[in-house]
Amino acid sequence: MMKMLAATNNKHKLEEIRAILKKINIEVMGLNDAGIEIDVEETGDTFVENALIKAREISKHTNLPVISDDSGLEVFALKGEPGVKSARYSGTEGEAKDKKNNEKLLKNLKDIPDEQRGARFCSVIAAVFPDGKELTAEGFVYGHIGYEEKGMHGFGYDPLFIVDNYNITMAEMTPELKNKISHRANALESFVEKLKKEIL
Ligand code: IMP
Repeated sequence: MMKMLAATNNKHKLEEIRAILKKINIEVMGLNDAGIEIDVEETGDTFVENALIKAREISKHTNLPVISDDSGLEVFALKGEPGVKSARYSGTEGEAKDKKNNEKLLKNLKDIPDEQRGARFCSVIAAVFPDGKELTAEGFVYGHIGYEEKGMHGFGYDPLFIVDNYNITMAEMTPELKNKISHRANALESFVEKLKKEIL
């Protein structure tokens, strides 16, 4: 069984990555399991750059292939913002972060009508292998931004993001449904296809 190291300590992401790569017989370890304690700064201008920055940095400290992900929300009327700044949009850290980010997003979309509130979540998965080979894959989920928070599940911008074809927010979806249709699930599926073709 091939082993990979995921460049994350985020339990939610780790479980999602684990569940999907298990299907092709790959065991995924987290940074904690590998005893690696490094916080890599995301200095890139794109999700691809940031995912690669993380995977390359962590791969300096292990002989295992490293997999990382970078994700965020792009709102078309805001020219793709918050984009790579999704986590730090409001400049707030800690517990209140998601709430403040959502408040800022609603404020910036105050005068924007229904038909111009389109948005997408984007996820990029990157992998760096011990021989230096690199692989990236991206995934999206499309929808639009509502006017108030709805739903109790998920995290981040989920309560504001109304998913195309479902007409409920991502936070109103069960975790099972979200994990099936999410940007990260789509990116991971595409990653698996590339992995099978180019590496395995
Ligand atoms: P990162 O990939 O951990 O850097 O996440 C970036 C930020 O994008 C998160 O802090 C959230 O604000 C947002 N984000 C990424 N994925 C999701 C999601 O599935 N739901 C809601 N917000 C998300």
